[in-house]
Amino acid sequence: MAGPELVDVAVIGGGPAGLAAAAEAKGAGAGRVVMLERDERVGGILPQQIHDGFGTKVFKEALTGPEYSAIYEARVNERGVETWLKTTVTELTRERVLTVRSDRGIQTIKAGAVVLAMGCRERTRGAIGTAGTRPAGVYTAGAVQYYMNVSNLAVGRKVVILGSGDIGLIMARRMILEGAEVVCVAEILPQPSGIAGNIVRCLEDFDIPLYLNTTVVEIHGKERVTGVTLAEVGPKMGERKGTRRFIECDTLLLSVGLIPETELAIDLGLSMSPATNGAIVDESFHTSAPGIFSCGNVLQVHDVVDYATLEAEKTGIAAAKWAITGKLPDSKINISAGAGLRYILPATISGEDAIDFTTRPWKEEHDKSVVFKSGGEVLRRLKMPHMEPAGMIRVRVGKGRFRHVVNNEITVEVED
Ligand SMILES: Cc1cc2nc3c(=O)[nH]c(=O)nc-3n(C[C@H](O)[C@H](O)[C@H](O)COP(=O)(O)OP(=O)(O)OC[C@H]3O[C@@H](n4cnc5c(N)ncnc54)[C@H](O)[C@@H]3O)c2cc1C
Repeated sequence: MAGPELVDVAVIGGGPAGLAAAAEAKGAGAGRVVMLERDERVGGILPQQIHDGFGTKVFKEALTGPEYSAIYEARVNERGVETWLKTTVTELTRERVLTVRSDRGIQTIKAGAVVLAMGCRERTRGAIGTAGTRPAGVYTAGAVQYYMNVSNLAVGRKVVILGSGDIGLIMARRMILEGAEVVCVAEILPQPSGIAGNIVRCLEDFDIPLYLNTTVVEIHGKERVTGVTLAEVGPKMGERKGTRRFIECDTLLLSVGLIPETELAIDLGLSMSPATNGAIVDESFHTSAPGIFSCGNVLQVHDVVDYATLEAEKTGIAAAKWAITGKLPDSKINISAGAGLRYILPATISGEDAIDFTTRPWKEEHDKSVVFKSGGEVLRRLKMPHMEPAGMIRVRVGKGRFRHVVNNEITVEVED
């Protein structure tokens, strides 16, 4: 095998995060930037998302997924990023040597800096272990989105959706618009998993019932799905006796969560967060391995693509800086999530710059505040009229506030 290709920044994944990171790495002065994408086109999940709603933060207008993706594809091309399509990264070492497989065979790349931007995959029936037969007609919502929007294929006529994540909600509306009947959406949790806006726009506007505290306990059918059995669940997720009911349908769509594509990160032994299932990063999105960065959905599941883009842009600039100088700000202040919050990101900061923190609450809250504290004193308080687990919260804290940090510790929590 020939020696490794030498690059300054290698970006793994050509979705919205990879595109933005690669464009900004090049814009920040990195020499050779290569973006590696296993698919035959860039854009990640966006080319199949033909509904609008992308770009409302970055461009102040609602674009479709393909429109949003095309802007960044043009940007990486204009800036001279090398895009290698149909190229899968199968191995990555702490010395930043990547093994990639494509129709050119197996190659190795040695990178000055690496950006992990591999996104997420959907949880499947196997991941949730639903009982019953194994007929055709059980799909993940994203797979159906691909069949309908890219391959122009209809997948079913009478549909039940399990899980009220945003993908499932968007597909409920899409199936109705394509002439299918959506019988109901069943959600095991006491609250929807998707954002409130999508509940209204995709379910209520189309009179689709949403059953909370409810799940599919059995799938029926031999060749093709003929129906599902729904049952209510109690507070500990156990089935409530006497609540089983059969619903006739020919298709079951699963929208039961996303799993970050973290295999490369785990094999590398990166420090991982049990709350996000992504790598633990500092303010530069730098992981625990020198020169390896992470952003986008593989770092934390984003509700809107704009925030994945903004995060990835900062990551690309930091990766270029590392590749050029080998230096980053010294992140010595620890940030921890306290009462009411599942996590806070980044985990450490330098205090030298303003930071856009991202976090999510454990449960729906009204008229509360997200409060940053150090040594018992409040550094920043943000009033939140409404918070929900499905919605990511983004809080900017100015660098002046970090002057008052005590013992390099900040805690962030929800307060009245
Ligand atoms: C179904 C769905 C609906 C959504 N709807 C909206 C919406 O309406 N509005 C909105 O603003 N946001 C929406 N989002 C959120 C938005 O799409 C995501 O935030 C965004 O796609 C995250 O970008 P990403 O680049 O991190 O991941 P992805 O888009 O998943 O891209 C990751 C890329 O990495 C590639 N890859 C993975 N592993 C490897 C490897 N080992 N080697 C090479 N390549 C690899 C994949 O092929 C993929 O192209 C939605 C998300 C989903 C899943």
